[in-house]
Amino acid sequence: MTAHILDGNALAKTLRANFRQEAEALASRGARPGLAVILVGENPASQVYVRNKVNACADAGFYSEKHVFPGDATQADVLAKIRALNADPAIHGILVQLPLPAQFDAEAVLDAIVAEKDVDGFRAENVGALVLGLPCFVPCTPRGAMRLLEEAGVDVAGKEAVIVGRSNIVGKPMAMLLMHAGATVTVCHSRTRDLAAHCRRADILVAAVGKPRFITGEMIKPGAVVIDVGINRLPDGKLCGDVDFDAARVVAGAITPVPGGVGPMTIAMLLANTLESARNSVQNGAGN
Ligand code: NDP
Repeated sequence: MTAHILDGNALAKTLRANFRQEAEALASRGARPGLAVILVGENPASQVYVRNKVNACADAGFYSEKHVFPGDATQADVLAKIRALNADPAIHGILVQLPLPAQFDAEAVLDAIVAEKDVDGFRAENVGALVLGLPCFVPCTPRGAMRLLEEAGVDVAGKEAVIVGRSNIVGKPMAMLLMHAGATVTVCHSRTRDLAAHCRRADILVAAVGKPRFITGEMIKPGAVVIDVGINRLPDGKLCGDVDFDAARVVAGAITPVPGGVGPMTIAMLLANTLESARNSVQNGAGN
């Protein structure tokens, strides 16, 4: 048996084409979706992510702005920019690329983004709404992973879902979304005992650890759906996930590749959230 490959590139491309149509419709009503991305410092991975996000905006007919600050910028500089973007009617989403340099209080920076433009969904208020099942911006990576499960025809209700990783941006919101969808959810982390036994119970296994090929073939239940969130750069420059793909694909029922799985879906969901924000601005009579 070889696992079905969940092709995030193909799905993201289809979604972007749909977004383009909606973006044009909104533009004709004075609200072309607009995203502002803030990058502080010169982290090479962050530079790539920001470039991909800006390119995806162009591809979907969105307006975008990139604001780059040097690594020694002050928090006050960045907060001033966020305040200006908060008030700018051409901007529907504001994204601060993480991680920020050490002199920044990331929570305070994210908190400065008005809730209506928090398209990453990282503000405490948004996280609270997610937990309560209220309307909110669903964080892009978990939203993309859920969309891939939907595309694969996975009926989540009643399934055993195991997430390895409990970060605020991936593990925790992923747990919430799977729980809302009716899965029985286990969240594992660095203090979990007998991780392999937990993983082997999973009908849906989500790896968000940040360690190359950490999840081995023996940790996967035959036929499981494996969502590999990890993006790790190997010494030879190639990217790989948190799952040992070659070993996993002969055990799993379906699996996301890295690259080309969750990564492009994360960007697609950023566009989806920005579109949603632009739509809200039209409904609230605040188009640009
Ligand atoms: P974090 O470093 O914030 O979290 C990693 C999690 O893994 C932590 O909860 C940690 O546990 C857990 N962990 C670490 N070691 C072990 C271990 N030995 N056993 C079990 N659990 C362990 O990472 P992120 O969630 O931000 O990212 C995870 C990965 O996903 C990274 O590779 C990142 O690059 C990638 N990523 C990909 C995205 C995409 O678009 N595809 C978007 C965001 C991230 P503890 O809490 O106990 O420390």
